Amino acid sequence: MKIGRMLLLMQRESSRRGAPVLSVESAIGRGPFAILVFTVLSARTRDETTIKAGRRLLSRAPTPQKLARLPLPQIQKLIYPVGFYKTKARHLHSLSLALLRDFGGKVPSAFESLIPLPGVGMKTANIVLASAFGKDTIGVDTHVHRISNRLGWVKAKSPEKTSAILNKTIPDKFRRRLNMSMVAFGQTVCTPLRPFCTECPLTKVCPKIGVTSRR
Ligand code: SF4
Repeated sequence: MKIGRMLLLMQRESSRRGAPVLSVESAIGRGPFAILVFTVLSARTRDETTIKAGRRLLSRAPTPQKLARLPLPQIQKLIYPVGFYKTKARHLHSLSLALLRDFGGKVPSAFESLIPLPGVGMKTANIVLASAFGKDTIGVDTHVHRISNRLGWVKAKSPEKTSAILNKTIPDKFRRRLNMSMVAFGQTVCTPLRPFCTECPLTKVCPKIGVTSRR
């Protein structure tokens, strides 16, 4: 089965099952700053929690200028209970200051400029580039890493290695939507524990590598 078809089947099935990540765009919009804030908040946190926290924060501070003016305890309060909320509050505050100081208050659209920003790693940079700037790049998080290994697209131990392989092997035209399709699919069908293989639209073509218990 071709990759475009596989991504389409993932999208359809996860949309039918109401994957939380699919409501992110309607909740926070597509502005680069909102996407950056949301992606920083989302690490190790459920999307439902991240969406609520992101909305609270962005309604109070929709720009780097406003966020940089908020006291740290207030940022912490607004984003609680996302995981590591104290660290993330500090990163978001420093991040806003760095955007004001180095980029005129705008989110940069180059990987090399995003990576040094506080709280921004390779995953966040690639998600921002794909989602906010429409660049053909793949943000690899835990869902993309896990599913790519199960499907046999990669044989990699870390998301970084998976990212390096996918960014070489996946054709440009599929890269932008790959993260969203796989995250949604990972939330609803190819779940970390006991994936729903018997209900999965890819079950006939998937080698299920590393899956020891399934539904
Ligand atoms: S068949 Fe199972 S392991 Fe393969 S993609 Fe579907 S849910 Fe994931």
